[in-house]
Amino acid sequence: MKNYTRSLRCINCGKISSLKPIYSCEMCGGVLEVTYDYKKFKKDHETIYNISLANKSSLLPIDINEEEPFPYFNTPLIKAKGIGLDVGTNNLYFKLEFNTLTGSFKDRPVYVGIKKAKEFGYQKVIVASSGNGASAVAAYATREGLESIVLVPATTPAAKVSQAYAYGAKVIKVEGPYSNAFNLAWQISQEEDVYNITTTFLNPYTIEGDKVVAYELIQNLKGNSPDYVVVPIGAGPLLVGIYNGFYENTLINEKQKIPHMIGVQSMGCNPIVKAFNEGKQHVTPEKSPDTIAGGIGDGLVGYSQDGTYTLNTIKDSEGIALEVSDKEIMHAKNLLASREGLYVETSSAASVAALIKHAKTHPFSSTSNIVIILTGHGLKESFGKNIEEEVPVISNNVEALKLLLKK
Ligand SMILES: [Zn+2]
Repeated sequence: MKNYTRSLRCINCGKISSLKPIYSCEMCGGVLEVTYDYKKFKKDHETIYNISLANKSSLLPIDINEEEPFPYFNTPLIKAKGIGLDVGTNNLYFKLEFNTLTGSFKDRPVYVGIKKAKEFGYQKVIVASSGNGASAVAAYATREGLESIVLVPATTPAAKVSQAYAYGAKVIKVEGPYSNAFNLAWQISQEEDVYNITTTFLNPYTIEGDKVVAYELIQNLKGNSPDYVVVPIGAGPLLVGIYNGFYENTLINEKQKIPHMIGVQSMGCNPIVKAFNEGKQHVTPEKSPDTIAGGIGDGLVGYSQDGTYTLNTIKDSEGIALEVSDKEIMHAKNLLASREGLYVETSSAASVAALIKHAKTHPFSSTSNIVIILTGHGLKESFGKNIEEEVPVISNNVEALKLLLKK
């Protein structure tokens, strides 16, 4: 199978490096991205739509194993039942990114990272994660016969910790915000023979897996790009990865467009939204994140350049950055379950909350195609409120049941 991968390039200074296991530009410390030979690709294929999932030719830095679906999961794109009306469009869609092996969007980037670890000859991988990346790394490391070390914030939901543990990872909780786990994992990968597949922008290969979401959306929408894509963001690699996938599509087919990217954060941890609203060029870290949406509660302490990369991507797409309160997020989480039949993790609901709120003052056109990325399954955490008192218990007695049903 052909592979069009060319090199690593620094997004700051443009320095080109070979495709090796490094985490930042050796000249300036900037974020690295993978480059491809698009000319050659274009010659060989007409559009991503034409080539996409059917023959799986590669604009990824790994060889695709035809026997495994990863990182092409073909997650469903389903139309909203009622929430679309709240937003003002008839074309609101949910991309069910929790419909993967481990129940979250992290499977795509992690699959690529684990394959690179194998290719580079590592036996051991490490990840700092708020939970979803932890489970994904543990699962795919196991499948590839690698050892995995998983660092999670001490406040990570028990279900996520158990999941990573069940796959056989060495799971360690780190006190304090996510940035602490990030920085510890970084130190270990500098000093020991352990490959770091933390899926911020640290590992330059993992974000390539996120591009596949864009390929699939183009396929889902019969060759078209949506008008807007809404993504909950911590550091924001998912948003940037999806943007990159659409951007590639325009390089290959100039008639195609790039959607406006909408990044969503919680008010309790909103460094990118702040920079966007204040018109700043750079993101300032949030030292004390405080939100129930743990998946996007990344204060970016020590790596705020990642947030700046996402900020610039939102601007490049002529998109927006929105923030919502924890209360609004919980309301949206309930709404998704009770009106759409979608039981998602709290961070996923932030996108829906933000869209509904934004549409009140800036209604979307009724024909706008909007895709909300639902990033994680609700079963990965508790519901968020105690329902014990609301769910009755009865004896094995039909009269007791009938009495309750009358209420
Ligand atoms: Zn550089």
